[in-house]
Amino acid sequence: MQIRTVRTVCPYCAVGCNVIVTSDGKRIISVVPSKRNDINYGSLCIKGWKGFDAVTSKERLKNPMKRTERGFVEISWEEAVDIVVKNLSEIKRKYGPDALAFIASARCTNEDNYLMQKLARQVFGTNNIDHCARLCHSPSVEGLISTFGRGAATTSIADLDNAELYFIIGTNITEHYPILGARIINNVMKGKKLIVADPRNIHIAKFATLHLRLLPGTDLALLNTMANVIVKKGLYDKKFIEERTENFDEYLKVIEYYDLERGSKITGVDPELIEKASVLYATSRSVILYSLGVTQHVQGVQTVQAIANLAMLTGNVGKPGTGVFPIRGQNNVQGAGDMGALCDFLPGYVRVDDENGRRKFEEAWNCKLPSKPGLSLPEMFWEAYKGNVKAMYIMGENPVISESELGIVEEALKKLEFLVVQDIFMTETAEFAHVVLPAKSFAEKLGTFTNTERRIQLIRPFLDPPGNALDDWKIFQLIARKMGYDWNYNSPEDIMAEISKLVPQYKGVTYDCLSENGVQWPVNESCKGTEILYTEKFARSNGKGRFMPAHWERPSDFPDEEYPFILTTGGIYYQYTTGTMTRKVHILEREAPSPFVEINPEDAKSLGIRDGELVTVKSRYGELDVRARISDSVPRGILFIPFHYREAPVNRIVNPHIDPKARTPEFKVTAVKIVKKVIQ
Ligand code: SF4
Repeated sequence: MQIRTVRTVCPYCAVGCNVIVTSDGKRIISVVPSKRNDINYGSLCIKGWKGFDAVTSKERLKNPMKRTERGFVEISWEEAVDIVVKNLSEIKRKYGPDALAFIASARCTNEDNYLMQKLARQVFGTNNIDHCARLCHSPSVEGLISTFGRGAATTSIADLDNAELYFIIGTNITEHYPILGARIINNVMKGKKLIVADPRNIHIAKFATLHLRLLPGTDLALLNTMANVIVKKGLYDKKFIEERTENFDEYLKVIEYYDLERGSKITGVDPELIEKASVLYATSRSVILYSLGVTQHVQGVQTVQAIANLAMLTGNVGKPGTGVFPIRGQNNVQGAGDMGALCDFLPGYVRVDDENGRRKFEEAWNCKLPSKPGLSLPEMFWEAYKGNVKAMYIMGENPVISESELGIVEEALKKLEFLVVQDIFMTETAEFAHVVLPAKSFAEKLGTFTNTERRIQLIRPFLDPPGNALDDWKIFQLIARKMGYDWNYNSPEDIMAEISKLVPQYKGVTYDCLSENGVQWPVNESCKGTEILYTEKFARSNGKGRFMPAHWERPSDFPDEEYPFILTTGGIYYQYTTGTMTRKVHILEREAPSPFVEINPEDAKSLGIRDGELVTVKSRYGELDVRARISDSVPRGILFIPFHYREAPVNRIVNPHIDPKARTPEFKVTAVKIVKKVIQ
């Protein structure tokens, strides 16, 4: 028995806490937080302390499997690769490359994602490659690229300590990103200011200087109103706007409409509160942190742009203690996007229809690349449902629980001529597969994750893989080689060498230089990272930040007589996304074993609903049964259901309308009714 101790990164949220793990190769002996880093210095949340046990579950996949009339049977890797190559190439030959769709994973490494998108584009000739960022932060990518030039956080976790004020909008930070939430609470306890904009009485709101309980889906109106107040009071940064930005006059024309009275009427927030928040934000060194409460809307891109506008208006960007901080959800959602696991972007955010940008990849990969943007994640399922997508290859994602319109997703999967699922567990999605491929987890592989502050960090193996599980990148290499492509990567480090040549943000990255605390991209040739973006100029072609104004529109689904409540969704502290890992950890499952719908006590009383009672929540798209939890954390007229539970998959009933630019569904606002369940 050989004891190993390695430093690695927590595989759950995108904060990317550093941990020291000791194991004997088979079991985890201990997990403790690293003290030598700027992210979590000595702390972890419950998922960091306890959640690693998931990968030692007996339910891990150990061998490739194929579906037969007798159910799934184990097969060799050779046979599995043969079946995959035969089916994908046959479908491509019969229907063309766009009959194939590839779903990459924010749970896997940069190297895995890079090779999956390369497999889709170079080997199979399609841009139908996407991942779960489409469901969460694609609006951040679009919104921040259009205003600042880069689709990422402008600052670092450590620099948050330099701010005087935190403006938290649309993120339940202490439940989803506990270590980041704790850092902010610590700073607020030391006297810093905190504005929280959230309809629910979330935990961090208890520490807020001001809590704006806006109506779901009105964030854009709130941000425009704050800008209006700031301009009217002359609190904007004229010098910054003049020297560093463009399109300010157009912005003024739009925000003029949002006077306090109108803003208050739309958002439901007291005008005095909006005024105070505007003055506090504009007169402090402020940073805005946001997440899915902002992005999962039909106006997600425009709301992200409104956040960027507000930061530019007040000069709160590009300096210590300021910035715009989209908090990414999954451990490597930033990296998967950086690697081009997106239907409209090649690695490094080169648009697929940018001929010059494409050429560099065509030369490096010795092929002609498709120029038409591919299908986004929701579109892949719609097209499969219509019979246009015939085969899918899904790595480390569980769309049967995580997608919107779950009824369509299941039908679409059933209609596929061929489905490959590559994962660490037999997920709900894998049940539909023709072939299931067992992959190594983060605990068994070497590679990199890029966290929410753009920090590229090394993960190191500390367990032996179960059975014959392989690295995701190795599986792609087997397939590419069988398809006749000369892929010869000996290690993830080889893949990173190629990434650093092709992706400017990762220019000087080597595993050697990542070995201590990683680096924040963009990285220069000497592997020096960048803590704060835009200190001198923005990354748009003319170096200027661009104001991108937009008027607020009512959410695409809104309460009426039949559906009088607004349903909103989110996560909880003890669980993580679709629960594939956390629900296998006893202590996490013990604390949060089942789904619920939160309902305000007044609403519950008027409907005669008691705490713990079974109710049916119905929307225009479906219905589900779930137990009521009476709580004043939701205001009257609003319901909340967590999205982790297969027993009540809330995405089955949410609003599927999408942002036209980012193609992200409006998960956060669905009109519903709630009735007591009638037991026959
Ligand atoms: Fe892991 Fe996120 Fe918790 Fe840190 S905050 S320990 S990265 S789940």
